[in-house]
Amino acid sequence: MNTEIAVLRETVARLHRELTRYDLVAWTSGNVSARVPGQDLMVIKPSGVDYDDLTADTMVVCDLNGVVVDGGGSPSSDTAAHAYVYRAMPEVGGVVHTHSGYATAWAARGEAIPCWLTAQADEFGGEIPIGPFALIGGDDIGKGIVSTLSGHRSPAVLMRNHGVFTIGRDARAAVKAAVMCEDVARTAHLARALGQPLPIAPADVDALHDRYQNVYGQRPSSG
Ligand SMILES: [Zn+2]
Repeated sequence: MNTEIAVLRETVARLHRELTRYDLVAWTSGNVSARVPGQDLMVIKPSGVDYDDLTADTMVVCDLNGVVVDGGGSPSSDTAAHAYVYRAMPEVGGVVHTHSGYATAWAARGEAIPCWLTAQADEFGGEIPIGPFALIGGDDIGKGIVSTLSGHRSPAVLMRNHGVFTIGRDARAAVKAAVMCEDVARTAHLARALGQPLPIAPADVDALHDRYQNVYGQRPSSG
């Protein structure tokens, strides 16, 4: 396998540590993948391996139909959803899935997270939307992610009764969106528990999002 894939194996393995660091996953749930640029391949977590045992060598390389092309183990059970997103959204270079607690509590109610925080306007450009209910296996989850996020500013979707899927220009950006989604979901939950949070005017949401995506930091959405 070529150098680019070797580097992505290392990157994807390392990014899984962020899911445990930020308390976004339980047991072996959750997964990160990265597109291999220009090769119609992706690198993804193996199925059912403990987080402590994830290394570059245990990552699985699949084609964009989810067929394994390199790796001893079977890929994540969410591989079909990741593959569908890469096929349908060429600009996406990374996909993350978690059942992080606060965000998934909004998903369980089928309730989008309204934009009550400037940090949410920055990263998500408005509400974090709800995707449809979909069973695992086949393309239904992938279709739900793509139909919800296409033309939407948010890089995160709350799949109803399930959990969070995020996208990014690379895997690190998708992991960042997953971390920020849970942070926003938690604060929104706390705010509403105390009363009715105040909306942000749509023009201000636009201004915040534009500044953050185009001006802030060293490069777009670098945090
Ligand atoms: Zn799941």
